[in-house]
Amino acid sequence: MPEKSDGNQMRLPSVVWGMAANGGVMDTSWMAKGKCRNEPPARFFPSDGVGVELARRICATCPVKEPCLEYALAQRVDHGVWGGASERERRRILKRRRAAAAVPTTR
Ligand code: SF4
Repeated sequence: MPEKSDGNQMRLPSVVWGMAANGGVMDTSWMAKGKCRNEPPARFFPSDGVGVELARRICATCPVKEPCLEYALAQRVDHGVWGGASERERRRILKRRRAAAAVPTTR
């Protein structure tokens, strides 16, 4: 996922460090391989459902879709399409994961 910018060129950070859920540092080297790296950043910060769908189509064949989504979930990124998921979809994923983690196991 590109950094959001006001220009038309995507600004991909060479390395972005994020904290992992376990307190460690997340590997963000995958960012340099994203299909979005040559796309206008605004495409991944859409204002409507049509824009979300256009971004998701690019993400669908991205080789780093999975780490991108996990990064956005771990960092609680609340804007833009990451890993093919909109803000709303990421909230749903997190909610499902919390619910699954809260279910007691049977013995
Ligand atoms: S999954 Fe989408 S937002 Fe993430 S790096 Fe790939 S193209 Fe960019």
